[in-house]
Amino acid sequence: MSLKTKEKIYGLLGFPVKHSLSPRMHNAALAALKIKAKYKLFPIPPQEFKNFIASLKVKNIYGFNVTYPYKEEILSFLKTKSVEVKKIGAANTVVVDRFGKLHGFNTDGLGFIQDLKVLKIRPQKVALIGAGGAAKAVSFACGKLKVQELCIYDQDKFKALSLFKKLNSEYPETKFDVVRRITDLDLAKKDLLVNATPVGMQATDALLISGRDLHPGLFVYDLIYSPRETKLLALAKAHNLNFANGLGMLFYQGVFAFRHFTGKNPPLKIMQEALGKGA
Ligand code: NAP
Repeated sequence: MSLKTKEKIYGLLGFPVKHSLSPRMHNAALAALKIKAKYKLFPIPPQEFKNFIASLKVKNIYGFNVTYPYKEEILSFLKTKSVEVKKIGAANTVVVDRFGKLHGFNTDGLGFIQDLKVLKIRPQKVALIGAGGAAKAVSFACGKLKVQELCIYDQDKFKALSLFKKLNSEYPETKFDVVRRITDLDLAKKDLLVNATPVGMQATDALLISGRDLHPGLFVYDLIYSPRETKLLALAKAHNLNFANGLGMLFYQGVFAFRHFTGKNPPLKIMQEALGKGA
């Protein structure tokens, strides 16, 4: 079988990746558009990372998403970087061209922005918990949206400060702040709270904030999508606040990634249903 007729391979590179929902939505879209390709999981341990990148052509891999812990490590292998990759300093989508060269994109922030649009939220004063990979994408998205204020808390204050410095030089129209304690996020004056930490994925995880910090004007957005309702979202629900989990962001980052991979518009409803998000 010649390379041209061989089934193209796409996938998700990370470690671990076994709970990912990405194969479901991408494979549903590929099948619906009758594209001869499969989206797989690439659970690559760190010691195999370089060999994996070197073997993309042989494996017939034409594109892949990147997740923890490789979103930054992949940068040095990229031939070109999108504006978002340059700003955020991380890539979550890579296209492999016919010469085997890699082109990096970051669709996480765009996915977050698109989901806010669909949810009809126009935040002005944002509190962000976390300063890791996902938080970077969210904070640059907030800068792009020109929110008035973005206040960041991370248990690793150096990570938060380094993100703060990058944001400050990139988006002068937004007032950025870093706080040392989660209670200093001053939720009473915020209209959006985003959790961009993994806290809430495990049933034994502590609740990040207390109910007394909540008020009716606060929208609570948890980037976690498994479980679909974290303790944080359950708290928001109990206080009658509006809230969302990370499925919407996951969905839209996947939609943008699919366009990069195939050059085609994916069937949104089919992708949504495959994700279990509902139309
Ligand atoms: P990450 O790079 O490991 O960043 C997580 C950050 O949260 C780290 O800086 C970590 O600090 C900090 N943190 C951990 N526990 C904390 C706590 N109790 N208080 C304050 N900060 C704390 O992870 P990530 O890739 O950004 O992912 C974060 C979450 O977002 C995950 O649940 C992931 O599944 C989700 N996510 C969702 C989407 C989506 O499309 N919905 C996309 C990307 C990620 P340390 O380094 O000190 O641990």
